[in-house]
Amino acid sequence: MKDIAIMYHYVQTPNLRGIVPLDPKDFELQIEWVTKQYEVVSPDDLTKPHGQKPYCVLTFDDGTKDQYEVAFEILQKKGLPAYFTVMSGPLEERSVPIFHLIHTVLSYYSDEEIWEELSTRFDVETVPGQSNYYSYETYLPRRYNKYALNFHLPEQQSREFLEEKAVSVFHSFENFINSYYINESEFIKMRQAGMTLGVHATHHRPFIGDAQAFYDSEIEPCRQFMREKLGVDAKWYTPAFGGGNQAERMMKELGGILEHHGFVGAFTTKPGLNNGLDSFWLHRYDCISLPPRSEVPWK
Ligand SMILES: [Zn+2]
Repeated sequence: MKDIAIMYHYVQTPNLRGIVPLDPKDFELQIEWVTKQYEVVSPDDLTKPHGQKPYCVLTFDDGTKDQYEVAFEILQKKGLPAYFTVMSGPLEERSVPIFHLIHTVLSYYSDEEIWEELSTRFDVETVPGQSNYYSYETYLPRRYNKYALNFHLPEQQSREFLEEKAVSVFHSFENFINSYYINESEFIKMRQAGMTLGVHATHHRPFIGDAQAFYDSEIEPCRQFMREKLGVDAKWYTPAFGGGNQAERMMKELGGILEHHGFVGAFTTKPGLNNGLDSFWLHRYDCISLPPRSEVPWK
């Protein structure tokens, strides 16, 4: 059978400038398209014998609030199951990954403002010449900001700058975290409504090699948090950044450790079809590559 899994990040009305979310209307249209061709199932049901249609698992990364307020709401209305992942660092340690801080800050401030402030406060003279990594950002101040905040400034400096900006929008860091992420009681509600919860990460760090150390720092603490705070014994995993540029190595070296700890499967960012649960590492299509948003009908 040609099963699929779909990857979602932000599902919200596009009013923020820092990110490109999937519009809730497009999400509903996509769900309609999906349910015509696929049976939407929980990951645990992938091992059940197929009926008429291939299976589709709807997967959500990063545990941002819009997924609870918008996607979960729509899915509940339609009576469909889905798979959501938990990132425990922001909830347990109140620490937010840099890329989420950047999304937030670039949503509330103009790129000109941020670039001007960065230029006044830090030595960013070499940034324009080095920022080609973000050449897909055609607007230069945005390209410079992303490069400066992700690569040029030391992480701590970048973090302090971004946290200060987030706090001035949300009044307190606590308030920012509560507004940005699904909290414990919301996750419990989702679980009770039949949603599957899995591990995404502790701090959303990329895989860099040592699989056991990675499991101990990025997976087990999140799983422990889920056990203690959400009452969930997580069996599903979605690697941060899909494993990043070490994805192949991650799949080879981390799979056995995950299985040893009772995980039954994981969702990558590699597009492709699946066949039940005949592979531990499952393919996923990004929602934007599927109808109705994609230009050409997808086969
Ligand atoms: Zn992620």
